Amino acid sequence: MSTANTKTRFAPSPTGFIHLGNVRTALFSALVAARDQGVFLLRIEDTDLARSLDEYTQALMADLQWLGMHWKEGPNAGGDAGPYHQSQRSAIYDRYYQTLEQQNLAYPCFCSEQQLSVSRKAMLAAGKPPRYAGTCARLTPEQVNVKCEQGIKPTLRFRVPDSGVVKFGDLVRGEQSFAAADIGDFIVRRADGTPAFFFCNAIDDSLMGVTQVLRGEDHLTNTPRQILILQSLGLRVPEYGHISMIVGADGAPLSKRTGSQSVRELRESGYFPLAVTNYLARLGHVYESNAFMPYSELAAAFDVKRLGRAPARHDPNQLLHWQREAVARATVEELWEWIGDTARTLVPSERKLDFIETVRPNMTFPADALHWAQVIFGGTLQLDQDAQTVIAHAGGSFFESAVAAYDAHPRDFKQLAEQVKNATGAKGKHLFHPLRVALTGVAHGPEMARILELLPPDQARSRLLHCTNR
Ligand code: GLU
Repeated sequence: MSTANTKTRFAPSPTGFIHLGNVRTALFSALVAARDQGVFLLRIEDTDLARSLDEYTQALMADLQWLGMHWKEGPNAGGDAGPYHQSQRSAIYDRYYQTLEQQNLAYPCFCSEQQLSVSRKAMLAAGKPPRYAGTCARLTPEQVNVKCEQGIKPTLRFRVPDSGVVKFGDLVRGEQSFAAADIGDFIVRRADGTPAFFFCNAIDDSLMGVTQVLRGEDHLTNTPRQILILQSLGLRVPEYGHISMIVGADGAPLSKRTGSQSVRELRESGYFPLAVTNYLARLGHVYESNAFMPYSELAAAFDVKRLGRAPARHDPNQLLHWQREAVARATVEELWEWIGDTARTLVPSERKLDFIETVRPNMTFPADALHWAQVIFGGTLQLDQDAQTVIAHAGGSFFESAVAAYDAHPRDFKQLAEQVKNATGAKGKHLFHPLRVALTGVAHGPEMARILELLPPDQARSRLLHCTNR
């Protein structure tokens, strides 16, 4: 299926910040295009003018760029199939509305919301699928004129054939077939003149030359309608693939409550873009390798055939796993940047490399770096209750030995500990635990030998001394 002509797209409606669920759809599409050296296109579906905000468009573009999904066609990128905002494409849609009307493939519908709702209820009560009853399907031109003169603004309905089946091979879910008779004539232009989703989305994918549409499975039943529109207008039909949804630990669709975060929140909390992409590329898609991969490898090994049909379960621990992998691989300069201003101000610049390498295994987010910067370079420690208990338990004479051992071996933790062991008889946990707590205030952390090398000498000594009279 690999072809240089591959064109995929992401077609968000800018009505909010993008979150894990919709950015995964974008990522799958972007990876397919990158794998085939094709084109990834961004189209802004802003026909709902009341809810679409430019702020959201700007935010989603920044989010995609941050994650490494660079579109070759779309806003700020050019391309010859624009404009790439649907709000600027009305003239194009109007041309196709005219064609549909001229060829009697669509008709004006004057049914009110209330009439439609009554009819839907009646059909449901009769155990039938609630499709449009066809009330306006055969109005004469005179009847249409009368209604228009009464000032009723019609919608435009697409005439669905009474029989036959719409079939397509879904890239993820295999052969699909829908009876046309079940679909019912549907609206392609709203009464206020704005295009309905089915219509402009299908027209644009075709006119923009999109070859593979990957989108959420909630769109599966829209696809036969869209295929009918394109076929009736003689337009090319793309391939469609419907991706399974993401569920939370409780099996229910992912929501804020079950851990769906916006891309913006992830970025602000210090996630690395590659941690997010390594996670998402495996959410409902299986790679042979479990290794952390750069974007180009995620793309090279991506395969639509490896997309699962079952819902994908969001696992925050997996996301953390990829974040730790990203931290383990980041360069010192990247981490120095990532830890943030406050931590950077605490760490003397000549200790940058040592600091980063010492705390790297113990940090997942910049907040961890700040914690260690404070522990090591923040002056006098605030000892919490647990720490005070450990220190009291070891006793003042233990720390008198520790100060003496420090004076003999101020930069060599192994020798220092050995001397304390010989002087006090403390071993193992009873030896190392009080030393660590006295020097860092906490029971776990980076290697003590490295911490001792980093601690300002006056600090190390005074922290031990401070514990002699406890
Ligand atoms: N604007 C639609 C949405 O955000 C696009 C659906 C599609 O990908 O076709 O749901």
